[in-house]
Amino acid sequence: MNNPLPTESKAQNRKRLFEDQSKTAQLWRSSNPLSRIERLIKIRSWIKDNQQAIRDALKNDFGKPETETDLSEIFPVTAEINHSIKHLKKWMSPKSVSTPLPMLGTSSMIYIEPKGRALIISPWNYPFNLTIGPLISALSAGCTAIIKPSEMTPHTSELISRMISELFKPNEVAVILGEVDVSQDLLQLPFDHIFFTGSPAVGKIVMKAAAEHLTSVTLELGGKSPAIVNRDANCKDAAEKLIWGKYVNCGQTCISPDYLLVHESQLETLLVEMKVALQKMYDPDFNGIEQSPDMARIVNDKHFDRLTRTIEDAVAKGAEISFGGTAKPHTRYIEPTILTNVTDQMLVMQKEIFGPILPIVTYNSLEEAIAYVNSKPKPLALYYFGKNSEDTSTVLRETSSGNAVINDCVLHYLHMELPFGGVNNSGIGKAHGYHGFLAFSNEKGVLKQRIGLNNVTLLRPPYGIRARQII
Ligand code: NAD
Repeated sequence: MNNPLPTESKAQNRKRLFEDQSKTAQLWRSSNPLSRIERLIKIRSWIKDNQQAIRDALKNDFGKPETETDLSEIFPVTAEINHSIKHLKKWMSPKSVSTPLPMLGTSSMIYIEPKGRALIISPWNYPFNLTIGPLISALSAGCTAIIKPSEMTPHTSELISRMISELFKPNEVAVILGEVDVSQDLLQLPFDHIFFTGSPAVGKIVMKAAAEHLTSVTLELGGKSPAIVNRDANCKDAAEKLIWGKYVNCGQTCISPDYLLVHESQLETLLVEMKVALQKMYDPDFNGIEQSPDMARIVNDKHFDRLTRTIEDAVAKGAEISFGGTAKPHTRYIEPTILTNVTDQMLVMQKEIFGPILPIVTYNSLEEAIAYVNSKPKPLALYYFGKNSEDTSTVLRETSSGNAVINDCVLHYLHMELPFGGVNNSGIGKAHGYHGFLAFSNEKGVLKQRIGLNNVTLLRPPYGIRARQII
């Protein structure tokens, strides 16, 4: 076995890699759409040829069902690639702007230039999608990238490392595997942009480190995304959409409906419909949800313990288990669990759940539900189920969230024309399509004056009455 490199030389190697990427970043400033598209096509072909390897890695990491891998890891990445290929030429073109009166005779454009050297730090919950997705945006923008995938999904991170080494030279794109110390070490380098996806707590650490170099950041964070089910919602429709949105990836989704705010009059019907939906989707043959090939498992023992403690804490403080509640440590299976009678004193209402537990809070008036949402940090997503358009407008106007979906949930993630991301505690900056491309780009305003034309003479000293008249 090779001796591990001493920490200092590992840090030196990373610094050298960063310097090598700096040279490539300078060359890539003049890259044309075609050369960037070629890089994206290489990735798309690799994914096509290695689809089964991606599925296997995710299955090994946390029992992710193959169809869910296709739907939520592979499809969003290829959609991002196809969207970029289609629009990249237009995105990269300089855009002319109109000329204000005092600038008469000049012409002005917005040039889009690559920020340069990017760092991408990704989480474990959609480990392929949330690593390669930002890379597509970085490459579209003409940036180089160092990638630090999550240590908690080792099979997928190893596969990503292999993929990148097969497709790119290290001075173009490189993967560095490792834990928190590796991430912190990379954060010391003066990158031009950092794209971080993870928890708000680590987001703060990343932003502090970035401040040292005034590096710009995109922070894709998490939090508690509410789903409001109003008195005029169609409970059957809402239940089916909520059950899928909650239990895809076993609830380990940043935009999963974290908790429900349900109009008092709808509680009983919604509970019945959710149980019907669970059985229809995950237990059609009445063998038990545990047997379903479509339910993933909890990623590791630490998260399994955290989630079972969350259920125990809620029950000890008076919550009722309306559905589920069983947990099997040896397979890290937690049954979809619906809790009623919950209060803010319970852990389940204090922290992002990130697992298959769905607490329900009831309300009597929409104002009450809005006030509840507004009493918490701004969520990554807000879901609203109801028919009345005035109520819908009220919710959209009076709450703030990164994204909002009416009469569905989670689906917005797949919409490449929509900016995706949070606001304040749930994130800074946006991803996907043009918005992801912009995250890695600098919009450079360029004003062109004509030689000999000097239309600001009147604004120069000696200042007289005419200068004051102009401004
Ligand atoms: P995490 O913040 O613990 O880790 C994310 C990455 O940061 C990992 O690569 C990890 O190695 C690194 N990291 C961890 N601690 C660090 C530290 N102290 N210093 C530097 N780097 C550090 O997040 P996670 O557990 O992997 O993912 C779950 C969180 O991510 C949830 O809060 C979820 O909502 C959020 N998330 C957000 C999105 C989004 O698009 N907004 C998507 C997925 C997950």
